[in-house]
Parts: sequence; structure tokens; C-alpha cells
Amino acid sequence: IETLRKVSRQEYLKKREQKKLEELRDDIEDEQYLFDGVKLTEAEYRDLRYKKEIYELVKKRTQDADDVNEESHSHCTQELHLYILLCLQYRMPEAYDQEGGVNQEKRFSVALQRYRDPNAAEKMNPFAEQEAWEEHQIGKATLKFGSKNRKQKSDEYQFVFEDQIEFIKDTIMDGENVDQESSIEELNKSIAKSAFDKLQDDRKTLPVYPYRDELLQAINDHQVLVIVGETGSGKTTQIPQYLHEAGYTKRGKIGCTQPRRVAAMSVAARVSQEMGVKLGHEVGYSIRFEDCTSETTVLKYMTDGMLLREFLGEPDLASYSVVMVDEAHERTLSTDILFGLDIARFRPDLKLLISSATLDAEKFSDYFDSAPIFKIPGRRFPVEIHYTKAPEADYLDAAIVTALQIHVTQPPGDGDILVFLTGQEEIETAEEILKQRTRGLGTKIAELIICPIYANLPTELQAKIFEPTPEGARKVVLATNIAETSLTIDGIKYVIDPGFCKMKSYNPRTGMESLLVTPVSKASANQRAGRSGRTGPGKCFRLYTAHNYQHDLEDNTVPEIQRTNLANVVLTLKSLGIHDLLNFDFMDPPPAEALLKALELLYALGALNKLGELTKVGRRMAEFPLDPMLSKMIVASDKYKCSDEIISIAAMLSIGNSIFYRPKDKQVHADNARLNFHMGNVGDHIALLKVYSSWKETNFSTQWCYENYIQVRSMKRARDIRDQLEGLLERVEIEVTSNVNDLETIKKAITSGFFPHSARLQKNGSYRTVKHPQTVHIHPSSGLAQVLPRWVVYHELVLTTKEYMRQATELKPEWLVEIAPHYYQLKD
Ligand code: ADP
Ligand code: MG
Repeated sequence: IETLRKVSRQEYLKKREQKKLEELRDDIEDEQYLFDGVKLTEAEYRDLRYKKEIYELVKKRTQDADDVNEESHSHCTQELHLYILLCLQYRMPEAYDQEGGVNQEKRFSVALQRYRDPNAAEKMNPFAEQEAWEEHQIGKATLKFGSKNRKQKSDEYQFVFEDQIEFIKDTIMDGENVDQESSIEELNKSIAKSAFDKLQDDRKTLPVYPYRDELLQAINDHQVLVIVGETGSGKTTQIPQYLHEAGYTKRGKIGCTQPRRVAAMSVAARVSQEMGVKLGHEVGYSIRFEDCTSETTVLKYMTDGMLLREFLGEPDLASYSVVMVDEAHERTLSTDILFGLDIARFRPDLKLLISSATLDAEKFSDYFDSAPIFKIPGRRFPVEIHYTKAPEADYLDAAIVTALQIHVTQPPGDGDILVFLTGQEEIETAEEILKQRTRGLGTKIAELIICPIYANLPTELQAKIFEPTPEGARKVVLATNIAETSLTIDGIKYVIDPGFCKMKSYNPRTGMESLLVTPVSKASANQRAGRSGRTGPGKCFRLYTAHNYQHDLEDNTVPEIQRTNLANVVLTLKSLGIHDLLNFDFMDPPPAEALLKALELLYALGALNKLGELTKVGRRMAEFPLDPMLSKMIVASDKYKCSDEIISIAAMLSIGNSIFYRPKDKQVHADNARLNFHMGNVGDHIALLKVYSSWKETNFSTQWCYENYIQVRSMKRARDIRDQLEGLLERVEIEVTSNVNDLETIKKAITSGFFPHSARLQKNGSYRTVKHPQTVHIHPSSGLAQVLPRWVVYHELVLTTKEYMRQATELKPEWLVEIAPHYYQLKD
């Protein structure tokens, strides 16, 4: 249990759980029913314990259903969210079974009954639990933060119940160049001016501003410059503007890359405001499938992946005068490849800026032939680091409790809270629990404004995190890693860091790629802590022990290139004419095995020939900004005369898992509507196609989406993607042909791209992947989950508690031999 690093999260939780139960048992044997140091009757004790258990159970099931693509409202998850609410809100004594044992199924069914018959629930006091909790919470929080006897008192506890978190203050991260007076002065000056003038004044308070001229001089003098500065110092928003003001845009565009789409969009929006222009005109952004730029655009924020794609069309980036590779410390796959392409070498007039929030800049400098490093001195206040006394089994709950503890004990005007979570599902769960727990408290506590931020948050809602907190309220930002360095939110004083993030991992042996919840590195943990010290002294609460930090966390995050599937990159490099991949100038080379695996896959897909050269198929595939298997499926649709259907399927697959939704009060209706598309067990791909075509038949009606429990926003996105794919079909000279009545050929086209993803049913109802045998299961949300065909081809694997295949379609085994004879052979 101590080794946070070495065990998977599931194992970790399980072990932790066991230990808790053992402790619990000891307690019961002693006939001491202690909760928060208070002796309770057995019934009270059991009630609290049971509440906790059910919550844990629900959480576990939520994790099972967790969507690693961060895009979904998967069916079971919504139901489980409901359970959480129910469990926390109502006492359910009738759910105890006679022996006082654990009867989980019964509890769930009671919870559901309650939900379905709200009148019955109304008759009880729905807030009884809530009130008890709240009183307890406020009392306890005061104890935690206010009492001098805290330590002494806590030593008497028999066990630490999870909804109280004890922290030990540990180190203090020193501030740098603290110049509080002057910044307050500047702030005062800026009061009572027009919004635009105020923005201009704000720009001048940023740490980079005093170095404006020096920086421009350095850029003038050197072709490649490494720029280092704390997050929030103004690198991303200011430097491109300085360059524009200095006339660089007269010679070409300024491109600034971001590892994340939200960052590109949000920063472009900010800069367009600062420049007083409309987004998409002088300042624009470009992310995959969304180009918000125009002829007039001179400052272009884009994902690093988009710049890489621009290379394909314009290998010398002739339309740019400056390229700024921002957030270089993130070391994303595309950033690393951009470095390796050595953009600057062929264009002596192109300026290359590499900016990073951390101090490992030497490495970038060395890599670029000792390019000079320009340091922007930071402005950070000291940050107090607190660790928990013991590891927390349930970090989500611990994070919520900590946030509430801070909120109820600290004056509201005093600063906002930033909580780092791992993904959309988790953030939504946290949001709901927070709302639930603060609901009905009225004026007892200050208002708590909950602001989620994650990659797929609708654009309209993204701006909310930047809105100033109203007086008397407090903001709690629930963010993914995106708030670590990409986005700076002003006014954060408290950071809560559970110490986990979702990270891609790749097994080159099996070719399997998964997103896993993984402990962060020390470097990440320190970045996170630093977010609390921007506008004043801050506090960071780490939901792990100082021992964990010291001994279990890696120093740095492994660069993405060493833990990802490289097929896409290899295809891009090959189409850029780079053949000798083993000798490509990688900053940190990927494992040779992963490179070989990528070559092997591309060969199997027909994108490369035996000599490793790009084929015609490969050249066509490279035109699509999609994973090679999807591109191959599209290219193959030419042969099967069903490109019309296949691009609809590809577009629907590209928006991930956020198509269907399931309102809490209409789950049965929603399920029925959904089943309609699965009629005849056509498989998930065809069901997606049916959804798209039916929507199209209604002339893209919003009403139709409502009636069928389909998210109209996702569908519009699918339509945009589909339009772009249609344009690309023309570019690679594939005719748009429809073959809608022959589902078998459509399935064959799918198989042409996804044959490496085939699996065969086993006796026990699980599946075995064909090429590199591994046990997998049909995802519960699949239309085939009850059908279990003998053979399936699947879109992707998702690892939660089991390895699940998501989006599966039935397959005839003879297709494999017909379509990929070099990959599969018949056994006699
Ligand atoms: P860096 O790139 O050095 O981390 P930025 O240029 O992103 O710094 O941020 C500079 C300032 O601009 C910060 O104070 C930040 O709060 C503000 N800022 C950035 N983006 C936005 C936005 N979308 N809305 C409001 N303020 C923003
Ligand atoms: Mg930045």
C-alpha cells in the first residue's frame, strides 16, 4: 500500500479497502463505535459506515464504467451518479438486512425504488442526512483548522474515517522576487477604466512585460531561442503580440503551438480581446477539425498536431515568420517530432522560439546546438505544502472533503480553490457531490461556485473559469492536467492535488494502447503546487504522504513518445520523405520495438511496401488527420463503393462516446430509443451510421435529437467532421458512392481498416483477440453486449477493471483471410 507507484489504482484501492475493513473489524470487536473520535451507538455507527460503504461501491462501479476517452455520459455512470446522490441524501434503514450484513443489491434496488417513487422519498426528511453531515462537517472542519489541540486529539482516534482528512504541514516552496506592493499599486491604478484600457493595463503587470525590449532584441539576434518562465508570466499571450507589434507579421504569420485544444482556443480568445479584434480575424486558432482562422489571421494559435499536419502541405512553413513551440516541457509526441524535423535549418529567416514553464531548458538548448536561454524571472509567493498523515484510499472523496473543509473554515474573499482530477467523468462526479453537499445550506456558508474544465467542455462554458469571483463567494475549479501549466486562473490560493493523472501507456508487444490513471511525477506535483502562489501566499494540500512524494513519485514524466503507439507518426514522417526512422534525431528516442510495431502495422494495412516505402494507399491514408486504421477504412471504402457510409461512420467514431444521453427521469425511454438503432443486431458501427443517416433525413433536426435522446452538439460536430472528410475524399480522388443496402460490404470496408482488431468468443463469454491473444470483453454499452457474436471486429480497447472492446461489429472469419491474407492464414 505504501508504494503508490508500483500498484495499479484498482489494486491500490482494493488493498486499502481491505485494510480499512480490518481496522473496522478490530473496532467492532472492541465494541467501540468511534466516528471522528466520538463514541456512537452501534446503530449510528453502522449507519455511517454503511453510507460510506455504499458510496465506495458506487464509486467502484463508476470506475468500471469510467470512460477513458473523457467524452461520454456512459449509461451506467449516469445511473450511478444518481445512486450516489440517493445514498448520500436519504437514510435507507430498510435496506439493512437482518444480520446487519452487507446486502448491496438490496440497497441499490431500494435506492432505485426511492428514486422512481419520489413521493415516498418526500415523506421522509430528505435532508436529515444532509443536515447531520453538514453539522458534523462544520464542527470537524473548525477542529481541523482552528484547534491548537488538534494533534493531541487526533492521536486518540481509533481509526480515521474517510470524510475527514488530516494534513501535516511539511515544506514551504519559496517565492521568488515577491513584489506585492507594486502589483497592488498597479492594480489600484487600473480601477475605473474602460474594459479595453484595463486589459492593456493588465498586460503591463505581467512578469514578462519589463523584459519586452530585451526579449525582442534576443529574438532579433538569434534564430532559435529557448524561453523559460513560470506559468502565468505571459509567455503565451504576450510574446506573439510583442512580435506582432514589432513588425514580424509583415513577413508572415506567427504560429504558436499548444499541446491541448482547449488551451489553443482559450488563449486565442484572450489575445483577440487584448488586441480588440474579433476571434478568427487577426487572431485565430486551428485545432483538428476546427479551423477558426481567415485570410487576415496573423497570430495563429494551434495544437502542435496541427502544425505537424501543415508540414505535409508546406514543408518549409513558408507562410510563417515565427514559430513558437509553447509548453515544450510537456514533451508531447507532436512537439517532439516538430523538434526532430529541425524546422529552422531550411529557413534561415524563420524564428523558432521554444518556451517552457520548467527549468529543464538546458536540455532544449543542448538539443538546438546550444541555443541561448532567455529567463523571465518569476513572480511567485511562497506556498505551504501539506501532506496527509496516511495514504487516502479514495482520493476523489478526500478531495471533495478537503475543498469543503477549506471553504467552510476560511473567509470567502480569501482565495479560490483549484482541484486536480483525472478526467471528465471524475470532474462531473465531483461537481455533483459538491452541489449536493452544499445544497440547502443557504446562508450558513458562503456561495461556492463550481467551475469544471476539461478537454471536451463546450466552448461556451470554458470562459467561466476565468470570470472573476463575485464578492462573498468562492470559486472551486475542478480541472484536469490542463490547469497545470497550459491555463492560468487568477485568484487561486488553495490547490488540492490527489497526485494522479490520466496517462497514455502503450505495450509495444501487443500493440495495445490504454489511458490509465497514474501517479504524477514530482515535477508535475510541484507545478500544481505553484498554481496556488501566483497572486499571494498559497497552500497546497497533497492527498498523499510526504513519504509517498519522496519515495514513490518519479522525478519527471516520461515523454509521450516513449509510451505511445507510433503508427500515425511513422506514417506522417514517411510522407514527409523521412525514411530512416531509426536514425531520426529524436530528443529521447522511442523504444525500437514500438517503431517496428508501427512499421509492421502500416505494412499490414498496405500503407508501406516490403521495403518500407510509402505506397499509393499509404499516401492517400496520410491525407486524413485520423489514426491509420480509420484512414485505411476510408481508403478501402473506394473498393467497396460505400465511401458515403464509411465517412459517416468515421466521423461518428471520431467524436467518441458522447452521442447518446440518458436523462435521469427518462432512462427507459432513452434506452428504447437507443435500441432502435441496434435493431437486427447490426453492430455498433452500423448503429452509428443509422443515427447519422436518420438525423440527416430529418434535415438535421434538433427536435429529432431530443426525441431520440441524442446529443445535438455531438451530432453537429460529427457533421462538421464528416464534411471535412468528404472534402478530403475529393483530394485523394475517391468518389462519394453509397451502398447503403449492402451492410456486408460496409462491414468489409470496416474490417479492411480494423482487421488487426479482431476477437473470437470463448466458452465463458469473454473474447480472445486473434493476433496477440489476450482476454477482452464487449463493453456493456455495446449493442452486442447481450448478443455475443462468435467473431467481432472492434474499434478500440478500453482498460478499466477489465479490458473492454468499445464499438464492436460482427465479423465473418473468412473476411479476415480474404482481406488480409498476409496477416491471417487459415488453420486446417
Ligand atoms: P504563460 O503562457 O506564461 O503561462 P499566459 O500568457 O497564458 O502565461 O497568461 C498570462 C495572463 O493572462 C495570466 O494572468 C492569465 O490569467 C491571463 N489569461 C490567459 N488566458 C486567459 C483567458 N482566456 N481569460 C482570461 N485571462 C487569461
Ligand atoms: Mg502558456
